[in-house]
Amino acid sequence: MSDLAPYAANEAQSRGRLHAEPPPGNRGEFQRDRDRIIHSAAFRRLEYKTQVFINHEGDHFRTRLTHSLEVAQLARTIARNLQLNVDLSEAISLAHDLGHTPFGHAGQDALNSCMQPYGGFEHNLQSLRVVDHLEDKYASFRGLNLSFEAREGILKHCSLKNARKLGEIGERFINRQQPSLEAQLANLADEIAYNNHDIDDGLRAELLTVEQLRDVALFRRHHDAALKAHGALTAKQARHETTRRIINTLVVDLTETSRANIQAAKPKSIDEVRQHDKPLMAYSDEIAAESRALKKFLFDNLYRHHRVYRMTTKAQRVVREIFDALHGDVKLLPPDFHDEAKHAEDEAGRARVVADYIAGMTDRYALDEHERLFDPRRLR
Ligand code: MG
Repeated sequence: MSDLAPYAANEAQSRGRLHAEPPPGNRGEFQRDRDRIIHSAAFRRLEYKTQVFINHEGDHFRTRLTHSLEVAQLARTIARNLQLNVDLSEAISLAHDLGHTPFGHAGQDALNSCMQPYGGFEHNLQSLRVVDHLEDKYASFRGLNLSFEAREGILKHCSLKNARKLGEIGERFINRQQPSLEAQLANLADEIAYNNHDIDDGLRAELLTVEQLRDVALFRRHHDAALKAHGALTAKQARHETTRRIINTLVVDLTETSRANIQAAKPKSIDEVRQHDKPLMAYSDEIAAESRALKKFLFDNLYRHHRVYRMTTKAQRVVREIFDALHGDVKLLPPDFHDEAKHAEDEAGRARVVADYIAGMTDRYALDEHERLFDPRRLR
């Protein structure tokens, strides 16, 4: 890739894989990472997992799979414009949500609360655990054996306590260093994607109204611009014409502000990016404030909406009841997980096997498993 900037990740300077492998013949190392992620079982399961809505609520809502594809699409565009490593930003984007539980944040909160005595549960750390350990199909190693750079990007935050246990990949949290620009980018592309598709899905589900959203400066400005450009709009057109303008504003601002930051800091390598005192990928102050206001609006009005809250409490109950049943009697686990639980060193190890099993479930699988465990009329 000759059009790669010196500050981009490049495979010649990669910190390598945990298990050494011969170089891929017909593709790059980061392409191989991306391909392994796409071929993983955890990636396929993203199709039936959701963030805000429950999978069976409707076919048009985003799932974690379509969300991850939107993140990758945004990251690729921005990476190309800044001469970053497109393959690596795509790989990180596609993998960033692999560790999510069923039922979005409700599921994660419930599992984290169940796991409190045993080290807690954190979806971001779980994404790393999926690619490092839980995917189990290669003869020579556990996990997908991804490059350091892909793993560094997947672990976007981490407590100091966990960082100390993780070795090399946790070091940057202890040393307060930055990840690659590709990782910084995937993180921001994630936010652009969910803020905008949650507006779209929220309006379609009638959990939000246009009138309400017009209190948010970023929305009002672009809604006005869409009306000015087209006159009357249908509800569907108004949604789309507004969010596409918001996305464009965020992408252009992020690209140009980051380009200016990079030009001022002049990092000559990925290591100089890592050692910089703050992330170089960023919005202008004005757009950062507007983006935060939108995020806060969604938090207050969508994620805490009565209908979402009611669904959330049901989902949490399902996760907690499954956890208690399986942790109380690990013989109820499917044979391969039961086997892992039998060989666990201690109570925390057994609980972790149960958490791994639950975290891997899709929304519909979790509902089904709950029935299998509790409904005596279910034969299997
Ligand atoms: Mg995400």
